[in-house]
Amino acid sequence: MRTFISFEDALNMVLASGTKAEAEHISLSMALGRTLSEPIVSLQNLPPFASSAMDGFAVIASDLAKEGAVLNVVEHIQAGDIPQRAIKPGTCAKIMTGALFPEGADSVAPVEWVLSERGDHVSFSRAPQSGQHVRPAAEDVREGDTIFVGGEVITPPVTGMLASLGVDPVPVVRRPRVAVISTGDEIVPPHVQPGPAQIRDSNGPALRSQVLAAGGDCDRYEHAADDPAAIRLVIEENKSADILIFSGGVSMGDHDYVKSVLVDMGGEMLFWKVRQRPGKPLAFGKIGSTVFLGLPGNPVSSAMCFAIYARPLIHKMLGRERVGGQKVSAILQHDVKKVADLHHFSRGVATMGEDGTIGVSEAGSQGSNLFSSVVRANCIIHLPSGEAMAREGSRVTIELLPWANLQGH
Ligand code: AMP
Ligand code: MG
Repeated sequence: MRTFISFEDALNMVLASGTKAEAEHISLSMALGRTLSEPIVSLQNLPPFASSAMDGFAVIASDLAKEGAVLNVVEHIQAGDIPQRAIKPGTCAKIMTGALFPEGADSVAPVEWVLSERGDHVSFSRAPQSGQHVRPAAEDVREGDTIFVGGEVITPPVTGMLASLGVDPVPVVRRPRVAVISTGDEIVPPHVQPGPAQIRDSNGPALRSQVLAAGGDCDRYEHAADDPAAIRLVIEENKSADILIFSGGVSMGDHDYVKSVLVDMGGEMLFWKVRQRPGKPLAFGKIGSTVFLGLPGNPVSSAMCFAIYARPLIHKMLGRERVGGQKVSAILQHDVKKVADLHHFSRGVATMGEDGTIGVSEAGSQGSNLFSSVVRANCIIHLPSGEAMAREGSRVTIELLPWANLQGH
């Protein structure tokens, strides 16, 4: 097992353990937020046929070159109708927006241009250009085009495009199953009034929410006492998970049993301790095909370690194009002291100024037990190891949290 490794090595090792989960087909109506498992090649043109872009008359433009020309209306074509008559010189068809364009015509004279309409005779105040107000077939998408390469998140517009292409059911990557287990004898569920030395389990609910927000699957969070038998039981029960996330029990305390129980059960520890703050005692290993992440119990450390390591791991398992939070460059608004040897993840509040530059400040006191800084933050400020001070006015990389809003709260 490696120990006290760099943040970069730690992240690479965690990401290397993530293999893409298999595909499943689900109803398009249930697919929001899921990830496409394979390329989507269009089997058709979009629009599928030429249609009118306006309510008006399908005409031959040159027929209207002569002022005062009167055309004979041969039929009315509604959206959804199939035209029965080809348009010949001197004739036209009344046509509605979205209706299939008839043969022979080359343009649409909108209703607004009608000079007079009597029975089936119509004249216009002006003439369209050839092709005007006609939507050609295949203008948007061509049959055989690769529309999605696979790995895209199904957003509302992606849903619309998949619907147009008839991709329903839709092939998506199975959501990685994540088990979240809070350890600690002092922990009680959120709905319980804690005793004098007890605290409520905040990591369980917060981590489960982060799993869901990252695209993973997590039915419920569980609790295990600081007791090897209890920890063994909960690992046994969750062996089929893709990722096993423990909160607490991985530090140097007398009752931090998680790592030793995992190894006793045939698991392998790959690293323990990373040169970072917060989250130094982070532990990583495998048991069978399940990836194990032991997050420190401090609520700030557990939330940050999830965002930095577990979220990109879930994205990797989903076969996402991009993993982790969006990274952008920002200007630090004040000096930040740090430990030279450690990579710091500060909770930050980033805002976009009127000139479009992004400024970032720390989100209050950075103690790893002070969860308010996580609640206020919209980003993580990366302050790499090597420097003992990050200066006001310098450029830093920030990683946006999934719920970030650069306009402030
Ligand atoms: P540990 O990593 O187990 O030594 O825990 C470090 C600190 O985090 C202790 O103060 C714990 O009480 C606290 N802690 C551990 N687990 C949780 C949890 N699930 N919710 C809130 N605080 C926790
Ligand atoms: Mg503990």
